[in-house]
Amino acid sequence: MPLPVPASAPAPRPRRPRLGARLCYRLGALLVPNRLWRGVGRSLERHPSGYRALHRVEAGVKEAAFGCRDCGQCALPTTGYACPMTCPKELRNGPCGGVRADGGCEVFPEVRCVWLVGYERAAAAGAAAGFAPLLGPLDHRRVGESAWVNYWLERDGSPAPRRGALHAGAPR
Ligand code: SF4
Repeated sequence: MPLPVPASAPAPRPRRPRLGARLCYRLGALLVPNRLWRGVGRSLERHPSGYRALHRVEAGVKEAAFGCRDCGQCALPTTGYACPMTCPKELRNGPCGGVRADGGCEVFPEVRCVWLVGYERAAAAGAAAGFAPLLGPLDHRRVGESAWVNYWLERDGSPAPRRGALHAGAPR
């Protein structure tokens, strides 16, 4: 069950990933849905304790590495592994019009816009071609679920053709 967000919760703050982009693309490629992962996802759904254990690991690793906010529909493979949910406006399809001339966030000027960080990471890793295909709106019913399981079971709003293209521009 998703945790309730208090009305007074502070705005998210853009977070610079702690893992290099090339490593992220390589690790991400290991999680691309296939028969094995679909089987794991279905099995975990039948075993809530296993599901919760995986979700705890996923959320902990991704929070430490990317500032993950547990949206349940992970966009990282298409955003240079910079989490768009750390944008104060939680924009999932590119930066707002308020990015400062020096690349600073409109809300936190001392921090670089997470979308610029993501593009720079994707370009440096040779993966700019796969950067930020259009993402669907966030399905709030999925917030607080395991994004990995939702990815494997194709419940994260990624249309089938895009799923295969997620890593098309990724370094080998
Ligand atoms: S699951 Fe959502 S909040 Fe977490 S890293 Fe991915 S996009 Fe960001």
